[in-house]
Amino acid sequence: MAVIEEPRSYFHPLYDVMLSTPGLSVGVAPLDRLLTWGLKNALWVFPMATSCCGIELMASAAARVDLDRMGTIMRASPRQSDVMVVAGTITVKMAPRVRRLWDQMPEPKWCIAMGSCAISGDFYRNLYPVVPGIDTFIPVDVYVPGCPPNPEALMHGLMRLQEKIGLQREGKLVPSEPRPDFDAMVRPPALSRIGDAARAADLSDRQEQAALTMCPDAAPGVVEDEEKGFAQPATQATPPLNTELVELLRDRFGVTEFPLNAPPVVSADKHLELAATLQKMGYRQFLFVAASHRPAKEGSEDLCEVAYGLRTVGAGTKEAIWQVRVPTNQTVPSLVPLFAGADWQEREQYDLVGVKFAGHPDLRRIMMSDDWVGHPLRRDYPADKECAPWR
Ligand code: SF4
Repeated sequence: MAVIEEPRSYFHPLYDVMLSTPGLSVGVAPLDRLLTWGLKNALWVFPMATSCCGIELMASAAARVDLDRMGTIMRASPRQSDVMVVAGTITVKMAPRVRRLWDQMPEPKWCIAMGSCAISGDFYRNLYPVVPGIDTFIPVDVYVPGCPPNPEALMHGLMRLQEKIGLQREGKLVPSEPRPDFDAMVRPPALSRIGDAARAADLSDRQEQAALTMCPDAAPGVVEDEEKGFAQPATQATPPLNTELVELLRDRFGVTEFPLNAPPVVSADKHLELAATLQKMGYRQFLFVAASHRPAKEGSEDLCEVAYGLRTVGAGTKEAIWQVRVPTNQTVPSLVPLFAGADWQEREQYDLVGVKFAGHPDLRRIMMSDDWVGHPLRRDYPADKECAPWR
């Protein structure tokens, strides 16, 4: 993995002239020491906190560690900051924004990668949306390993940065930090990433094949076992059936099957009418829409299953849950005209599973970046798919 290094050109021209004037350097040496002291002890941090490590970053500014005592304060503006502390997982969608904020910081500037997610992607490095280390797109000066590193570790990282700044100001060679995940003490990821030399050539094909054959038609009460790929008995309790919904579906919508472990299936052309009827019956709260992909097998089509949930409001609340099954190239009527709350949730299912909702006013991606190719939660989508230039 290429690690980015940028040239540092932040010495003032007047300062260079003074240094090259014979004898003057003796006079300016104390001044230089004063400036270096000021620079090292006024490192303002731009907090690029995205997840759990961000909590430790916040704690480092609180009373116990109190980063203020070394002149380090958090600034919410990149233009007033010296050090970007990236604390947390960075995704492919977020990486260009982080890079832009980095570019908006004036020189001299430094970067600290706080926590193993920022350093290498850690647990998530094989997942399709995660960048495997921020030094793939910005230069990192100090790595603070840990999951999460505590506030004292961040303080130690800042002290290491101060030492480096001192060496730079003295014109000494500053050794670059090794990425901690290259260290033998850190376990390499169980699944080698795309592009890694250790990755078997046929792994992507095997992953895709495994996804396609993972019991989508499993019998009731059966779940998948990741390692063996075999069905295992499930132990979850079955929720009670909503008798009001069962009667409605049977009498007015011609539904005859009511499985205990799955919502009843309603045909796509009656689904909007069902939602409108339920709304009039008092099911006024939109609970969820959740889709899954059932890839084609012998004798069956490539399908999407889209489950909807509504709820009555107030005491003695009841839930109505049903599903619609359509071939992946067909549409499902959107519930946005009836429930405004369906808007973002349907967009999410479109983004991740590729379900197309007819009549949705603004059907576009919501979680992945606009130029993302494919729908990551489809079963034929490799979990560690490459996404250049970020992963
Ligand atoms: S390194 Fe650990 S604590 Fe930090 S963001 Fe990642 S998972 Fe959370």
